[in-house]
Amino acid sequence: MIIIDYIINLSMLSLMVSTPLVIRSYLNLKPLKQLRFWVSLYAGIVSSLLVSLSFQDQGYSYDIRYAVIILVFAYLGPGAGMIASTFALTARLIVSDNWFPAIVGWLVVMAVFIVIHKFTIHFRPVRRYMIFLCSYIVTYIITVPIVLNIIKDNPLFHLQYLMFVSIGVLIGGLLIESYEKLYRIIKERKRMEQTLEESESKYRLIAENTSDLIMVMDKEHAISYFSPSHEVVLGYKVAELEKIEIYKVIHPDDVGKFRETITKIMKNKKSLPVEFRFEHQNGKWIDFESRCMPVMNDGKSIEHIVIISRDISERKKSEEILLQSEKLSIVGELAAGVAHEIRNPLTTIKGFVQLYGKDNGSNEINNLLLSELERIEIITSEMLSLGKPQAIQLNRANLCDLIDHIVEFLSPQANMKNIQFSRSYLGADFFITCEKNQIKQVFLNIFKNAMEAMPKAGHIDIKLQKGIDGECIISVQDEGFGIPEELLPRLGEPFYTLKEKGTGLGLMICHKIIKQHNGTISYHSKLNIGTLVEIKLPLIN
Ligand code: ADP
Ligand code: MG
Repeated sequence: MIIIDYIINLSMLSLMVSTPLVIRSYLNLKPLKQLRFWVSLYAGIVSSLLVSLSFQDQGYSYDIRYAVIILVFAYLGPGAGMIASTFALTARLIVSDNWFPAIVGWLVVMAVFIVIHKFTIHFRPVRRYMIFLCSYIVTYIITVPIVLNIIKDNPLFHLQYLMFVSIGVLIGGLLIESYEKLYRIIKERKRMEQTLEESESKYRLIAENTSDLIMVMDKEHAISYFSPSHEVVLGYKVAELEKIEIYKVIHPDDVGKFRETITKIMKNKKSLPVEFRFEHQNGKWIDFESRCMPVMNDGKSIEHIVIISRDISERKKSEEILLQSEKLSIVGELAAGVAHEIRNPLTTIKGFVQLYGKDNGSNEINNLLLSELERIEIITSEMLSLGKPQAIQLNRANLCDLIDHIVEFLSPQANMKNIQFSRSYLGADFFITCEKNQIKQVFLNIFKNAMEAMPKAGHIDIKLQKGIDGECIISVQDEGFGIPEELLPRLGEPFYTLKEKGTGLGLMICHKIIKQHNGTISYHSKLNIGTLVEIKLPLIN
């Protein structure tokens, strides 16, 4: 019946070892304080229980308490091992007599284990308990049958005992090792999940807080991800965008270029830049510069294309301003050259007119001619100064007089074209500080444009009034063919003209002069109804 007793011992051992491990798995792996002490206490209780299940043979008590002690030594060190083994010894002394071999055996085994522990301190527990087991077997054989001469004539009995202790160590070790492995796997997975979550939240943070647009396009050219920045930059809700086909919000002129880039990336598997216009929800087109990067699946086929786009309308605007200022400087040079050429013949003409006046007595026409020639002279010097800005000579002038003067000057031409000027001045004095000839030039250009917009006949309404901020508002309304809305921003650009014999310089000069006088100029126009030009200039208090 000895075998049955051993098997009961082994089953108890397995149950006792696995119970705390199972409980521990459910107690979400919190570190236990003074783990060694509590575990050694528990191991002491287990070994005591095993002792209580021991069986007697020829006056000796047999059990597998040493299996537990070996495991505790291997996993928790000599301190814990001593606690557990002291429990076991006490239980053994209580359970049966014959104390001498029990105490001697205990002392020898403890001494051997402590020495072995010193040499195996860096070994892994599995190797360590195998060494402890071997040393126990050797110690047992030397001590029990040989030195203490216990049941010397029945080696089978000792073999059986040692075999069951070994099985006990192996089963206990296996249980602990498999639990440890499971614990490591779970811990590793948790760590990986956490790192993944951290890196994901980092990327999400970037994607959700950048002003750049981030899109992820799949192999079928469908967009599987839109960053939330689309909402701020384009005005669409992300959910809305997911429903729209992407090519519907790209400018029709750019769709081809965009598709071509995507096809090229699919073919060459290399990232490419592309510029295109996206439609804002309010209908405006915004310029974007994009970088399209392929994301490879297994190093061979493309899984996604990541498209990162940046609004470059500000950059485009400043590029345009730069271009315009370059154009302006060319105009300046050109104007200065032309003005220089005009000046010489002008001096000759002026001289002859003056001579003519002296000879024939000055009359009105002669005076008008002279004053207009003077104006040409001043304008040419103004053109000369277009290249390099000069200090202007400012005088006090009444806007009414300046307007009257220009209207009078233009009236012969207006009469011929059946154009009537009407003037309404809401107030008498509209005094401004200005360079008179420059302001006259502005009116001349604006009125002439109005006249040229009405080839058959029409009415030009000039209004002068005071604005709320103490400025003067000059409105010139014509009944001409108007200006298309999309062309309004181009007014004032050098060389922008729609006329066969136009220069496209008139409004540019007007803009420059008005700006110099701290004023503003704006246009409102309706096709085939007419154009309203509004100039605001600061009045003298
Ligand atoms: P130009 O008169 O030599 O063409 P401007 O700078 O004076 O140059 O004017 C630029 C363009 O603006 C004109 O060609 C014309 O198309 C447009 N424009 C200006 N004023 C008017 C207006 N009152 N009505 C219609 N078009 C206008
Ligand atoms: Mg003009």
